Parts: sequence; structure tokens; C-alpha cells
Amino acid sequence: RGVLVCFEDVTPMEQIGQMRRDFVANVSHELRTPLTALIGFIETLKGPARDDPVGQARFLSIMESEAARMNRLIGDLLSLSRVEADERVRPTTRIDPAEIARSTLHGLRPIAEEAGVKLDLSVPATPVTIPGDEDQLRQVLTNLLENAIKYSGRGATVTVALNAVEYEPRVRGRGVRLTVSDTGPGIDQIHLPRLTERFYRVDSHRSREMGGTGLGLAIVKHIVNRHRGRLRVDSELGKGTTFTVILPAT
Ligand code: ADP
Repeated sequence: RGVLVCFEDVTPMEQIGQMRRDFVANVSHELRTPLTALIGFIETLKGPARDDPVGQARFLSIMESEAARMNRLIGDLLSLSRVEADERVRPTTRIDPAEIARSTLHGLRPIAEEAGVKLDLSVPATPVTIPGDEDQLRQVLTNLLENAIKYSGRGATVTVALNAVEYEPRVRGRGVRLTVSDTGPGIDQIHLPRLTERFYRVDSHRSREMGGTGLGLAIVKHIVNRHRGRLRVDSELGKGTTFTVILPAT
């Protein structure tokens, strides 16, 4: 049921040109959509809504959220390009994933509460450290948790679990396993292999409505690759989704 979505994956040269063209086309489209809305509302404010203060207030608040969407998209594009730029340089500083999990969860509690989602955390009794980039690991957790919270909806539970794994052949020895599980709607199997592609969405309308940029999991994948880790997703419709990240400890 699960799909391994990355492990030091290498894209064939001949695909890179096409991917780049697709990416530019996608970015242009994603930026143009809110921009077109903004231009439309500016026209309306200058014309038909000139003497309609109630309408003006409503249009301004839509414009504000469209501008915020563009801002989020640009933020994610910059994160993606930063992560890609240093993907070949493996982090060497030792970091404490349990501490990062604790503080990231703490920061997201207000969003979870507002969404009516329960957040749970379990970390190992003995501390473990791994070589890693603290900001990037925080971003992995934030992206996975924000998705779990926003797609699961009211009444759901999101559980973050961190475990030391004694032996993982593909990460050569010891490592840590981080899982983010939700009791949300789940994702159909056919989507799993493409989930980490830039701008790939299972339900575009819902993603946009929830403020998604379609880049969150692509960023996660690149960060996991940089750490020589593995990313896996298991999901069952009507039951929920689990993202598993395994990072080497040495
Ligand atoms: P987005 O900004 O659209 O959330 P992501 O790259 O973070 O982009 O996720 C890609 C798609 O994967 C989402 O649009 C959503 O359809 C699906 N998805 C991600 N996480 C979950 C989850 N926990 N439950 C259900 N669907 C999810």
C-alpha cells in the first residue's frame, strides 16, 4: 500500500530539460491566477464599486488573500531553490530531532486548535542526534504537519512519532524514523508516486482553497535527499495517511 517516493533519486538528463520547461510554465500559471484576480478587482474598485463601501471592503479582503497567496508561492519557490542549491552538500552539524519535533509542534498548536485537530507527539526516552540542518528538518516537519492538519479536518488526530531505528540496510546502519500520521481522508493509491512532484495536487480546488502552493512535498523530498534519507507515504482512503522519513544517524 505504501510508496517509497525517494532515496537519493537521480533524474535522467533527457528528462531535465522537459521538467524545467514544465516548471516555468507551471510557475507562470500559478502566479498569473492571483494576479489576474487582483487586476480584475482593481478595475472593479476604480469603476463599478467606486461608491459602494461595503463592496469595496469585501473586494479589498479578497485582494489581500490573493496577494498573500502570491507571497506564499514566492516564499516556497525561494525555499525550493535554496534547498536544491545545497542538495549536494551534506549537513554535518549534529542536531536533536526530538527537540525540533517538540518546538515545531508547539508552534503549530494554535493552527491545529483552530482547525479542531488533536496533535500528539512521542519521542524516544534516550536522546538521539543525527547530522542535519536544523532549519530544513523543521521545514520538513512543518510541511508534513500543516498538510496533515489542513487536509484532515475537524475531529482528526495527527500523531508525530520519532524512533531510533537500529538497523536500516539502505541508510547503512543506525538512523531515526520520523512519522507523521493523520486520521484524515487518505489519498488514492494512484496518486502516491507523483505526490512529491512540484505542483502535483490530488484535488487542485481543495489545495488552493486551503492556501496550498503545491510545493510543500517537493521541498520535503529535496531536504530528505540532501540528508541521504528516505521518504515513504502510506495511505488508505477513509482511514488516513502516514508520511515516514528515515534519516541516517551517521
Ligand atoms: P499543497 O500545497 O497543495 O498542500 P503539497 O506538495 O504539500 O502541496 O501536497 C501535494 C498534495 O498532496 C496536496 O495538494 C494534497 O492533495 C495531498 N496531500 C498531502 N498531504 C496530505 C494529507 N496528509 N492528507 C491528504 N492529502 C494530502
